Amino acid sequence: MEILRGKGASGGIVSGVMRFYKREGLDVQKRTVEDRAKEKERFGRARELAGAQLSELMESTAQKLGKENAQLFEMHQMMLEDADFLDITEDLITNGGFNAEYAVQEASKQLVQILTDSGDDYMMERAADVKDVTRRVTSILLGKSSGVGQLDEPSVLASNDFAPSETAEFEPGKVLALLTSGGALNSHTAIFARTMGIPAVIGLGAGLDEKLDGMSVVVDGSAGTVIVNPDGGTLEEYLRRRSEEDAKKEKLKALIGLENKTLDGVTVEVCANIGGVDDADLAVRNDACGIGLFRSEFLFLQNSSAPDEESQFKAYKDVAEKMGGKRVVVRTLDIGADKQVDYLNLDKEENPALGLRAIRICLNRPDLFKIQLRAIYRASAFGKLAIMFPMIASLWEVKKAKEIAASVRRELIAEGVKFDETVEIGIMIETPAAVMISDLLAAEVDFFSVGTNDLTQYTLAVDRQNEKLERFFAADHPALLRMLKIAADSIHRNGGWIGICGELAANTALTVTFMAIGIDELSVAPNQVLPLRETIRGLQVSSLKPEILDSLKGLW
Ligand code: PEP
Ligand code: MG
Repeated sequence: MEILRGKGASGGIVSGVMRFYKREGLDVQKRTVEDRAKEKERFGRARELAGAQLSELMESTAQKLGKENAQLFEMHQMMLEDADFLDITEDLITNGGFNAEYAVQEASKQLVQILTDSGDDYMMERAADVKDVTRRVTSILLGKSSGVGQLDEPSVLASNDFAPSETAEFEPGKVLALLTSGGALNSHTAIFARTMGIPAVIGLGAGLDEKLDGMSVVVDGSAGTVIVNPDGGTLEEYLRRRSEEDAKKEKLKALIGLENKTLDGVTVEVCANIGGVDDADLAVRNDACGIGLFRSEFLFLQNSSAPDEESQFKAYKDVAEKMGGKRVVVRTLDIGADKQVDYLNLDKEENPALGLRAIRICLNRPDLFKIQLRAIYRASAFGKLAIMFPMIASLWEVKKAKEIAASVRRELIAEGVKFDETVEIGIMIETPAAVMISDLLAAEVDFFSVGTNDLTQYTLAVDRQNEKLERFFAADHPALLRMLKIAADSIHRNGGWIGICGELAANTALTVTFMAIGIDELSVAPNQVLPLRETIRGLQVSSLKPEILDSLKGLW
């Protein structure tokens, strides 16, 4: 038994087998082969083995998660027999004389291209399956296991760190917990884990060694500990603690349907942050008042090309419908900094957090921006959507973004397309500049939502991705709390509302302060909604308000 200690990034206790995420494993070399027939046989054997793996996977998934979830693997099996896949690969081997792994990779590229070029939603979804299946065959040919797609059972996934584009690919139910040797608590990987309710321990250092691959572990995401090869007594103790946690969660369910109201009658909306359509189910299950932040960029991170209007429309419509008329705030594309996609061909930057990101990309690429806005407006006919622009620093950016939104609305009217004409437009308060001109910005929009993760980074000049700076990253710094008050007063003077959707919103020690400041909405990970409701229902705000505001002693 060995105990690894790191930082708890997302709570929960799980036990399972640890697997290392292999991203470097599929380094395919282009070679010519002497014996083409033998190479073709090698390809045939790899396909057979892949088919056998998929059968096993299908069976175990059907048992654990039901038949519907297992269907994907049946489709993958069919792809192994796909005539185009076989023709292209075998032609490259037999007529080109190339090695099987190169031939499979080339066939994969060609098929993915055809599917993504089709512009059809269904076909485009299949491109991801082609990649998954061909990755499986390639890794068998290379004698390696790789990536999440290759997890043959739900596992605890370990790596030095995960890029947001990698976490975006995780299938719910496959990843039991995330472990990283590096990583920062405010990184998008940690945020992703909290949103999905996946336990996570980060900063485990060199102790998280690949030699632990395949070992059984117990992960305590709150304490930040990982027990490798737990003995019987330890395992029992953790299982007992997990039952306690489950019982606590069960008890919180009694709060479903109740108001987020303090003992003295002050209310605040408690909404959920999501990264994808499936997360909306978690929001519903946890009785969120709505979606305070839909990180739409995760739709972009999951794909090998920018999602088109139809696929975005479907995603926004699905979430709007799932939320059944409750407000869903869709944040427009917030790509850049740590969230990178190759297909936008953005230059490498010295200071990406200060670089071309979020609204700046959208204003430079109105083509991309308009597609997203059209999709959101069209989906607004199916629920209650709001639009939010990220990373605003100047008034002209908001005016320009609104102008583009207005042109999209005009287009839709001309085309006779139905949409909700009352869709609210808001901005994220993530830069000190936005706070200092919040009076001017408030006149332009319906709401503010404070992104405390970035606002802390830019106010305290602390890189949120740098794990060595965590003690300096104080999102509850008085500078931040004063900023909240300045922004809240500005938007309230203009009749709008203000939320907090950064991680600070879940800090229950500050809930009373947020309410005294006048914050109207707190948006947190889905499984933090009910704990926050519990806190709110035990608070007295009015009597503490003068003292709290006095302690902030702002400039207002
Ligand atoms: C924030 O910056 O606080 C925020 C909510 O946005 P993100 O974490 O996605 O940058
Ligand atoms: Mg942000």
